[in-house]
Amino acid sequence: MNAAPCGSYPVTYYSASTQLPPPYPPLQRNATADVCVVGGGIAGCAAALSLAERGYRVVLLEAQRVGWGASGRSGGQVMPGLAVEQDELEQQLGEADAHRVWEVSLAGLSWLKARIQRHSIDCDWVGGQMYTALKPRQWRLLQRWQAHLATRYGYSSTRLLARAELRALLESERYLGGLYDGNGGHLHPLRYTLGLARAAAQAGVAIHEASPVTGYVNAGRVQVHTEHGSVDCASALFAGNAWLGSTVPELQHTLLTIASYIVATEPLGEQRARALIANNAAVCDTNWILDYFRRSDDHRLLFGGRVNYSLINVGAIAPLTRRRMLRVFPQLADARIEYAWGCLIDITRNRTPHFGRLAPNVYFLQGFCGHGMALAGIAGVLVAEAIAGTAERFDVFTRLPQRTFPGGEAMRRPLLVLAMLWYRLRDLL
Ligand SMILES: Cc1cc2nc3c(=O)[nH]c(=O)nc-3n(C[C@H](O)[C@H](O)[C@H](O)COP(=O)(O)OP(=O)(O)OC[C@H]3O[C@@H](n4cnc5c(N)ncnc54)[C@H](O)[C@@H]3O)c2cc1C
Repeated sequence: MNAAPCGSYPVTYYSASTQLPPPYPPLQRNATADVCVVGGGIAGCAAALSLAERGYRVVLLEAQRVGWGASGRSGGQVMPGLAVEQDELEQQLGEADAHRVWEVSLAGLSWLKARIQRHSIDCDWVGGQMYTALKPRQWRLLQRWQAHLATRYGYSSTRLLARAELRALLESERYLGGLYDGNGGHLHPLRYTLGLARAAAQAGVAIHEASPVTGYVNAGRVQVHTEHGSVDCASALFAGNAWLGSTVPELQHTLLTIASYIVATEPLGEQRARALIANNAAVCDTNWILDYFRRSDDHRLLFGGRVNYSLINVGAIAPLTRRRMLRVFPQLADARIEYAWGCLIDITRNRTPHFGRLAPNVYFLQGFCGHGMALAGIAGVLVAEAIAGTAERFDVFTRLPQRTFPGGEAMRRPLLVLAMLWYRLRDLL
């Protein structure tokens, strides 16, 4: 699945349900720009678009195709906040900065909705998102979240759903209660990312696909190199995230990349699909190794969950993820799985996003920890603001304490095994 040749999309429900645009041409010259953006996911496309709107000349280099990475394969669930709870963030950052981060995350949601409208992005946006609790401990956690966000942040778009109320919305016996957020929602992530790229191209960004960046040199101006060309620019942004590999050695040991998997059932018919999630919200449980699911526009169930060390053994995705789906919806035992795919999630040690500078003119964005649908877009906007001279919002994120993973490549797999055992154990408690 991920062995697709450079420049083509993996087979997913998303790529199969998208009118794929013709490829942008590879970079085959020495170009000059104000800013070179590396990575054509949501973060890179949003940054490029925002920079072009501010009048910068931008070149965007994507190793494969726009939306080829997590942005085009994600669960598509859109919610405010980070992967860590707000009270944990307050401990890491202090209250004032934690409030600023929360405000940025809300701005991320607004930016996403506004861009869908402004650029007429046909990405099946649906409002409504729910967290669910499997255990009394998690139900208490949801109650605490809601109270904390309402009293300390004035966030009032959430509503607690006791078991019976949740059961009326979700045709599953698995959950004790839920937290509904009318401000969140879900969308078709590949079409959303492609829509941002199209808007960026219309704003003047030169996009080059099948153009993997091999390295860069910064001597005041930055030279970004690909195999067949280069970009000479004043500033650069690395937004290659989990796929960056050794392109930027300074970032190599800062992420733990874990694979997560999604299956799409065959179309279930409108009535059957509606019965599963009556309010058509995106649903996500509160386990560490979580299940997340939603209805698609053509009445399938898209169900994600399960993590693994790598994207190897792709053949096991469908049966293993289906088994998890049937724990939630046993009534789907007769539903055929039509698509199954995996993708790398970018996890940091603190489960907070990792933004920063490698030099005053070289930026990076990564580590959204499974929370990037709304956050990656606004992160791109923050880089554009910072390059234009207003770095306050960007710099709040640079104050988040980040640590590398010890031991380099040799320790990577044992660390992953340990981390996953730890997460499984926590879910059982
Ligand atoms: C299975 C899965 C489910 C998820 N579900 C959700 C969800 O429901 N809700 C949510 O909020 N988040 C979710 N996420 C997380 C979210 O998808 C990501 O946080 C977000 O898409 C990250 O965007 P990005 O632009 O940083 O990275 P990506 O989308 O991964 O883009 C990075 C791009 O950079 C390119 N690149 C890398 N190296 C180079 C190089 N050297 N040269 C040129 N290009 C390069 C890659 O090819 C890639 O296209 C999920 C992630 C996964 C994997």
